[in-house]
Amino acid sequence: MSSFSNRIVNWYKSNGRHDLPWRKNISPYSIWISEIMLQQTQVKTVVPYFNKFIKKYPNLDALLKASEDEILAQWSGLGFYRRAKNIYKACRVISEDFNNKLPININDLESLPGIGRSTAGAIMSIAFNKGHPILDANVKRVLGRYKKISFKTENEKQKKLWLISEKLTPNKESFEYTQGIMDLGATHCSKSRPRCDLCPVSNDCDSAFKEVSNKVSLRKAIQKPTVKLNFILPHTKNEILMHKKQASEYWESLWIPIDGNEVKIKGDQKYIKIDINHPLSHLNLDMKIRAFEIDKKYDLESNLEYKWIKKSKVHEYAMPTPIKKVVSTL
Ligand code: SF4
Repeated sequence: MSSFSNRIVNWYKSNGRHDLPWRKNISPYSIWISEIMLQQTQVKTVVPYFNKFIKKYPNLDALLKASEDEILAQWSGLGFYRRAKNIYKACRVISEDFNNKLPININDLESLPGIGRSTAGAIMSIAFNKGHPILDANVKRVLGRYKKISFKTENEKQKKLWLISEKLTPNKESFEYTQGIMDLGATHCSKSRPRCDLCPVSNDCDSAFKEVSNKVSLRKAIQKPTVKLNFILPHTKNEILMHKKQASEYWESLWIPIDGNEVKIKGDQKYIKIDINHPLSHLNLDMKIRAFEIDKKYDLESNLEYKWIKKSKVHEYAMPTPIKKVVSTL
């Protein structure tokens, strides 16, 4: 084991975040779910969603019986819903090709929807203690700073970081090493204020105690476009008319109000107007919702995209957080 890996392993043993829920009763299944949730989402946000998900689907057998809508409903509020859709798709592949068991080799894991090389490496290293490199956002930052690589394109950077990760990942104590380097990136080697004074690899890190730049994240924040949404939300005393969003760059397959630009409702209605600004990672949503109560439900043609949903059953449907908040007040 290299000196770098050895220091990470020892640091993890005494400083790692051993109390995270997916690090208790470790199984390939729980590591898979946690790794998917942790893609693009911070640990503190993931913890309650992970606990809720595992309570509902404690093992793979339970998850394999769930519909896509049910999985999306558990995911509701966590964002990046394609991850939940991929979990559902992966379940279908596991049923059809892997005899209802999560595969235990890296190539088969990587063949599952939503599982890339890094996630497969994390499952192999943490759940099976078999050393495979990983390269999530935290690990990229640690290795990129430790070796201070030069690169011309993002592609070149990625290739170089994978080579470093391959070289430094040990065959022994992969469980401790993988979680240790993830934890070091999340805690001490943070984006804006690295704590090099507390870091176990600072004595030979090429970036130790040097200033870090945040220019990239600032640029991204400025470039985010705004999408204007004009919703109508008819509801009776007990039910709400909702629409299942089709494939798009956000909220795919979630239940949302009807697009007021596409559907015209007859008659004058007394509206409650609700304005919401909701930032997503890649764009801002500027929503105007007009909610109004009617005495009698509109008849729907047989169209699965529209549905009268009972107000008492709203929690069973996958809805974006701001929409769920509005709906729950009606
Ligand atoms: S010494 Fe500082 S910059 Fe280098 S890996 Fe540790 S925390 Fe990150």
